[in-house]
Amino acid sequence: MNLVKNIYRTFLLLLAVVQFSADLSANVAVPGPEVIIPVPMDAVRLDGTLVLPENASFCINADSSVDADDVQALAAYIEDSPLGFLQTGQRKADVKINIAKGNKSLKRALKPFSIIPDRLDEAYSLEVSGTGITIDAMAPAGALYAIQGLMQMTRDATLMELQCCRIVDAPRFAYRGLMVDVSRHFRSVDFLKRQMDAMALYKLNRMHLHLTDAAGWRIEIEAYPRLTEFGAWRPQRKWMDWAAEGSMYCERETPSAYGGYYTKDDIRDLLEYAMVRNIEIIPEIEMPGHSEELIASYPQLGCSGEPYMHGDVCPGNEETFTFLETVLSEVMDLFPSEYIHIGGDEAGKGAWHTCPKCQRRMEEEGLGGVDELQSYLIHRIEEFVNSKGRKIIGWDEIMEGGLAPNATVMSWRGSEQGIAAAKSGHDVIMTPGAYCYIDYNQDAPFKEPLSIGGYTPLSKVYSYEPMESGVTDEDMKHMLGVQANLWSEYVTEDSHAEYMYYPRALAVAEIGWSRPGQKDYDAFRERALDALDQLQARGYNTFDLRNEYGERQASLNAEEHLARGAKVIYANAWHPKYPAAGESTLTDGLLGGWTYGDRRWQGFLTDIDVTVDLGKIQPVRYIGATFMQSPGSWVYFPEQVRISVSSDGNAYREIAVVNNEFPYRDPEIAFMPFAYAGETEARYIRLEADVHTRPGSWLFLDEIVVH
Ligand SMILES: [Zn+2]
Repeated sequence: MNLVKNIYRTFLLLLAVVQFSADLSANVAVPGPEVIIPVPMDAVRLDGTLVLPENASFCINADSSVDADDVQALAAYIEDSPLGFLQTGQRKADVKINIAKGNKSLKRALKPFSIIPDRLDEAYSLEVSGTGITIDAMAPAGALYAIQGLMQMTRDATLMELQCCRIVDAPRFAYRGLMVDVSRHFRSVDFLKRQMDAMALYKLNRMHLHLTDAAGWRIEIEAYPRLTEFGAWRPQRKWMDWAAEGSMYCERETPSAYGGYYTKDDIRDLLEYAMVRNIEIIPEIEMPGHSEELIASYPQLGCSGEPYMHGDVCPGNEETFTFLETVLSEVMDLFPSEYIHIGGDEAGKGAWHTCPKCQRRMEEEGLGGVDELQSYLIHRIEEFVNSKGRKIIGWDEIMEGGLAPNATVMSWRGSEQGIAAAKSGHDVIMTPGAYCYIDYNQDAPFKEPLSIGGYTPLSKVYSYEPMESGVTDEDMKHMLGVQANLWSEYVTEDSHAEYMYYPRALAVAEIGWSRPGQKDYDAFRERALDALDQLQARGYNTFDLRNEYGERQASLNAEEHLARGAKVIYANAWHPKYPAAGESTLTDGLLGGWTYGDRRWQGFLTDIDVTVDLGKIQPVRYIGATFMQSPGSWVYFPEQVRISVSSDGNAYREIAVVNNEFPYRDPEIAFMPFAYAGETEARYIRLEADVHTRPGSWLFLDEIVVH
């Protein structure tokens, strides 16, 4: 019998050796902490591995400092999660979870690190040893995050052998957000829950819901039923179709009505789902701008009292405040969030200049203009929100005309506004458009679905660091964190929204959680590839990072040509918003990338008329300039480009007239050279380009190339 056993053991041993060398040759490593996104604060690989059984179990050992309901909710979450571990008694459990406010073991582990006290609830330690897994946390949130690490390491319990390791982890920032624009396209409760599952996986803890905007009002308000009977519906589904038909609303009963809204029960359902996942939902009610839908529903709230006339509510009208306060009261009764987002961005303020009610208000309150009138509205609303024990967040425009005293600023136009707010003692959430606006393309436009334009690949998002030059440690105390925003004008389908979020939301998660010294894009990209596999296995539609095309080839290397470094004389100036490199732009040899915002493209709102001086008369066989078209941003090809040459700078000879035949209605981003090819001589080259006849059109070109 013993002999048989020994032979069998030897056989198993041999099998293991064969298996081991097979693993080595395939270079398959047992997963450990190195797969986790965001990268943990501290992680050590230990010797050995742990093989979890098929039906792995867990237990939660919590003391009286932890709410019993929260413990039960966490247990139910783990059982229902992709891990599917079963709750069991203390002795047998494969995963032991200890939660206590004064958790000594975790305190000891955190000692070498300086952790801001308000971040301790999310801290955890996770130890994988040869005999089992131990998780220590001070609150359920920390335990939840340790569990997410296990989901990533086991790839949702499909890889049951784990590298022994010890992880000690805590967040860098308290606020790590994701914005969902449910106004432009309504998203179902199920969609939001799916995104919360993914948010929890990457330790994102704030979901900002953009609930109101011109495209539709998305939350039931009992006192104002027209908002959801009328203001939540439109006859056209697609953004451009809706815009082409005048951006009108329709009754809910209209057969073609497209839209929707959340009932109060929907919101309660979402809030419960969010709480278990350590997510706070922050509702945004936009004011005073972006309010077309509410004015169409209640026209008396606009300056003229007519629908379809204004985007801004009338701050001169007392009824506006009754409306806003009633809406906010219902919203605050529903959402327990510390913050209520009140918008505040992009108010046109146009009608306020002539509205008698607005004029009267400015006079009575001694306000020096419409900026101060906006500030008056925000101050009043802030006082109201503060009186209910809550705080406001507003987009950075709320700083114009004087910032409300306790307001938190969401900095979007750049990071400067956020830094300025932090320096003046205000809390800020950083969402600078160039890095955190993930409605921009993440790859070459010819590969991507229709979008608003731009180019913000994963590497660009990941490169954002809030502690930039000029930011002090004191300023950093006011930086609550970071957020990715997905504006959704062009994001009609749910699957498209997921495509835009993942993987870019993962980069924001790592900026928000991990230490700047731990950032390494190449390593992150490797982990992101794994993470996307996991998300896809869960059914998410993600961007195909493996087959990323990358930046416009022409922009990668400087181009040598006859006009490089030549002087350019401008008959009229570029637009101050898009100077690129100023007067050297068009001959610096640097071609633009996929976006006109990359400081390689020079922008004009007028016709272009420039002359290049080659320094001496020389033979020329090619003169061309590439223009960019991005209709989502009102960037169009010129109507016509004329190229002329001269030897003395006085007498010019026209050598090419190129008419634009590209359809301006084509919504895709496009690049096109307008060029002369032939045999001629020149010292001076004049290029004239006529701006597109659509009012407000931009022209963008990157270089005048001469060969
Ligand atoms: Zn008014």
